[in-house]
Amino acid sequence: ADQEDKPHVAVLANSGLGHVVPLLEFSKRLVFGHGFRVTFLVVTTVDPNPAQDQLLKSPGLPHDLHVLGLPAVDTAFVVPEDSRLLTSICLIVEASLKSLKATLIELSCLRALVVDLFCTQAFDVAAELSIPTYSFFTTSATMLAFSLYLPTLDREVTGELVDLPGPIQVPGCRPVQQEDLVDQLKDPRNEDYRWLLYNISRLPMAAGIFLNTWEGLEPGALRVLREDSFYRQVPAPPVHAIGPLMHEDSNGEGLRSTDIECLAWLDGQPEESVVFVSLGSGGTLTREQQVEMAWGLEMSRQRFLWIVRKPTDASAAAAFFNVGSNKEDDPTKYLPQGFLEKTRGVGMVVPSWAAQVAILSHPSIGAFLSHCGWNSSLESLTKGVPMIAWPLYAEQRMIAAMLAEDLGIAMRPSVEKGRKVVGREEIERLVRAVVSGEEGKRMRRRAREIRESSIESLGPGGSSHASLAAVCEDWKTTKCRGSEGELC
Ligand code: UDP
Repeated sequence: ADQEDKPHVAVLANSGLGHVVPLLEFSKRLVFGHGFRVTFLVVTTVDPNPAQDQLLKSPGLPHDLHVLGLPAVDTAFVVPEDSRLLTSICLIVEASLKSLKATLIELSCLRALVVDLFCTQAFDVAAELSIPTYSFFTTSATMLAFSLYLPTLDREVTGELVDLPGPIQVPGCRPVQQEDLVDQLKDPRNEDYRWLLYNISRLPMAAGIFLNTWEGLEPGALRVLREDSFYRQVPAPPVHAIGPLMHEDSNGEGLRSTDIECLAWLDGQPEESVVFVSLGSGGTLTREQQVEMAWGLEMSRQRFLWIVRKPTDASAAAAFFNVGSNKEDDPTKYLPQGFLEKTRGVGMVVPSWAAQVAILSHPSIGAFLSHCGWNSSLESLTKGVPMIAWPLYAEQRMIAAMLAEDLGIAMRPSVEKGRKVVGREEIERLVRAVVSGEEGKRMRRRAREIRESSIESLGPGGSSHASLAAVCEDWKTTKCRGSEGELC
């Protein structure tokens, strides 16, 4: 069919990599699997963002997927210095979405708009234009259940959540330990908390919520969201589990020279022998922790591939806004003296950024030490790789608990009393246990079962495939309004 004849959907992502990746994959699926034309709207800033550019400017994107950056926001004007991560993201989004109405009018005849979790201002704009609007929730179903309960917690708990006497009870979910709480909730007076609450409180405005998960991975949380009386009263919009959505670069055209070097190095290592250490798009370690990490890896005598960043004591997400930039990135300047020499041949160190999915797909990878971002967690699960959970910020501690305690595919480090960092001995122990111990073997078997269930869910007749197909059928039969306001 002619491009113009295809039903048209717009997808809106904030600029964070962990959001762009799954929303872009979602868009590709609409194009390849369901015959849509998609305009991918993305919040951009004037700052360089090489990793984002690499994804969005890839020559491999399909013809029917049109990437349209919203006018670039000047962060220096919009984000006060010392703003926390979520506040910065949301202020950028707020500034960026000022142009959304005009953009949507221009696009005309949209069957639906699908918006990122932190772009909920778009609900109002789309409502004015009578465009059905869906949310894309970028983390787990368990987190969605927790999030939908958060406004109630906020109303009913006097004082702070961290001061409650026992774990936090969430309808239908495993109680949440205070130490695992979403970062922003640990101090409800901060602005990050207000932004989180703002976006979450608006979720019920969505016509439906897409989740990057699948029935076989989180059956309990999905059932609860659909059936539990609390969520029926909210009311929670219909949830559509359509995952896993992952950035697979099947012909390798997105690989940089450092990626090719990594993969070649992995080719020379024995099967399932390498621990891959990577902390998401923005994660950074404190200086003290980075020293322990380095010597812990060295002491483990296991092979490792470490995506390393300049340590900082200022924030655990210090690299977030310049993802993939090699600025100031010479590891010899910030890794402990002697480390590179001592580990030559056993370990490989790559500054800043590498093609994570391609690495996790390599048969030499035996374990993944990850910050437990939801995308990274899904990538590890769907490649059958057991994990060392190293949560840093946002909801990562809750995901780590789920990976370790519910799914049994991750180990969590413990911190010695009186210390702020995970010691090198503990790192050594964990790396050995996961790469070459019995515990690691058990976790790998479990991760492989999960991988099988993810493949099933996406195949013909699989639950995720059917879920998305049902919504797409709905969209195809929806009437929409053209640029003159006429129904078409
Ligand atoms: N990623 C990557 N290379 C890196 C670091 C991250 O390709 O060196 C990708 C990773 O595969 C994932 C995304 O960036 O798809 C990060 O998303 P996630 O939800 O794991 O964490 P976030 O960055 O949002 O905290």
